[in-house]
Amino acid sequence: MKQREKQPKPPAVAEEQGSRERGDSQDSKASDPPKGSGPAEVQNPTATSPPDNKRRLRETGLPSHVIERRKFPRIQTEPPPPPAPPRLADYAPIIGMPELDEIRFLARHLQGKTVKMVNSTAVGGGVAEILNRLVPLMNELEVPTKWEVITGGNDFYEVTKGFHNALHGGEYNLNQQIEDIFMSYNQQNRERMEFVEDLFVIHDPQPVGLVRAKTETRGRWIWRCHIDLSNPHSEVWDFLKPMVEQYDASIFSSPAFTRQLSIPQYLFYPSIDPLSEKNKDLEESYINQVCDDFGIDRSRPILTQISRFDRLKDPVGVIEAYKLVKKYVDCQLVLAGGGATDDPEGAVVLQEVMAAAGDDPDVIILNLPPWSALEINALQRASTIIIQKSLREGFGLTVTEGLWKEKPVVAGAVGGIPSQIIHKLTGILVHSVEGCAYQIRYLLTHPEFATQLGKNGREHAKENFLITVNMKRWLLLFQILLGMARPSKTA
Ligand code: UDP
Repeated sequence: MKQREKQPKPPAVAEEQGSRERGDSQDSKASDPPKGSGPAEVQNPTATSPPDNKRRLRETGLPSHVIERRKFPRIQTEPPPPPAPPRLADYAPIIGMPELDEIRFLARHLQGKTVKMVNSTAVGGGVAEILNRLVPLMNELEVPTKWEVITGGNDFYEVTKGFHNALHGGEYNLNQQIEDIFMSYNQQNRERMEFVEDLFVIHDPQPVGLVRAKTETRGRWIWRCHIDLSNPHSEVWDFLKPMVEQYDASIFSSPAFTRQLSIPQYLFYPSIDPLSEKNKDLEESYINQVCDDFGIDRSRPILTQISRFDRLKDPVGVIEAYKLVKKYVDCQLVLAGGGATDDPEGAVVLQEVMAAAGDDPDVIILNLPPWSALEINALQRASTIIIQKSLREGFGLTVTEGLWKEKPVVAGAVGGIPSQIIHKLTGILVHSVEGCAYQIRYLLTHPEFATQLGKNGREHAKENFLITVNMKRWLLLFQILLGMARPSKTA
């Protein structure tokens, strides 16, 4: 895409900038408020935006239909019908036949071995999304896999939500009554469910107590932890840990998320499905249509951050970085997120974002409904650069999605992001607003380097973060736990 530069200036020397960023990162903590979100903007967010969430955009040379769309983006109001689940063979054009053969080969040894996956919700959330895809594919491989969801009352889910926050380092007052609620719902589910399979995979802390059924089963038990346990509330963790240690193995999403445990720990990166609505290939005409619907001009560079409106995603910092870039290179910024209407904090952050964007018509803020996977896919594909300037992060699936789409990704060096971005090889890691701006500007003015990063990023995602890679890991782990994974026996 042709880029229009305003005042071309040679970018500063990369090494110098790099060292400044490292300095920045040492000086500022991840939990610091984002730079540039000064009290005036934060405390009086509606000052520059009318209460109806429509921003006043300043007059520029943009055509009137584009301005119209920026003010009133055409957003899907109804969820589309769910797509048919893919078959294993559908992945062949993406990963190649040898890779598919490898999966089938690994599965052959497990054919007839039964698996039960248990989590706490059938819809919503990343775990349900993963299981929705993984379970049918396992069954297609003739590894009969069931997915069961535990049940509980509001009191149980209040406790488990409290645990979730506490395990992420939040405050919590654990007492006997809370422990009893947790244990009694786990016991009820244990009594209701049958445990006759060869392998049990229990996801996250909510159903962790099901393992008490282990002594009455012949199967092997795995605890799959999707959350970051690096800094847990000690009492809550001390309560859960003895149950975790009854499992035969545990799985974490990042080396940084683990705890000291007496059982083996395995590393499974989260994965994306290249055939999902969010990640599948799209026709250019559809991408153009989505850009038209949102008033995005594809003839100029597009910087995009897709994220919930959450301060830890630093959307205001992204706007600050964009403003620094915009002094030198003409570009647009797309900030697309969702959930702001029913999440009170999201709504406040959205107001902060609108205030920070002011009347700049080239900052396009989209509050999308949850059924916008195709639109998000199109936005990511239309982007010149994907940004994920998080101050704290879990794994950062938006980074994976950007890498998979062969985009240069500029992202905060936090959480699971450094597992995905090898600095200057598969993307760019940043530690500050200024560093982020510098790197964006560098990429916009060095498109060949940006293209190479995108290509490397896609390879990295393909090697490590696709659902097919994840399946191989499951199949291998199952073999290990069933005592059949010795290469000399399986060859
Ligand atoms: N996402 C979405 N709609 C939004 C914002 C985000 O569908 O408005 C998706 C995004 O594409 C990604 C996921 O939600 O698949 C966010 O995962 P990530 O690990 O990046 O962040 P989290 O929100 O879990 O902290």
